[in-house]
Amino acid sequence: MYANFSETIPLKVPVQAQVCLRPWFEHTLLQEGLDIIREGRIEHFFFYRQISAALCEKSNPLTILFDESKQIKQGFTLKEHSCSICGHRAVKKPCHHLAALAILSLSPKPKDKKKLFPTPLHFKDTGWQKIGSFLTTG
Ligand SMILES: [Zn+2]
Repeated sequence: MYANFSETIPLKVPVQAQVCLRPWFEHTLLQEGLDIIREGRIEHFFFYRQISAALCEKSNPLTILFDESKQIKQGFTLKEHSCSICGHRAVKKPCHHLAALAILSLSPKPKDKKKLFPTPLHFKDTGWQKIGSFLTTG
């Protein structure tokens, strides 16, 4: 969401995103994350395989490794995450910087546009999976 920076960023976190990220982020944390996005403090946002990454406040790396999970209704989990601003504490509990990255990472599911899902996990349902398989197998 808002990753192309041309979308209007709302003042409040959309309910759909709150429901999607509820297991990891309290509402207050998500709101602080949205504020970080709106203030333009996230730069160089990108994906690598199942990882979302960004630089926050010019040079501080943030990463989230997403993984599919059938054990919770969201259908995914935050397998690993790191925030170079908050340090090791963020390993156990995601911070508001990571909330910003998580919000940016969401997009509508290709097969169900009403549901949000981490964009890095969409690739297996697209042509990118075939291209990736071709590149890795030669
Ligand atoms: Zn942080």
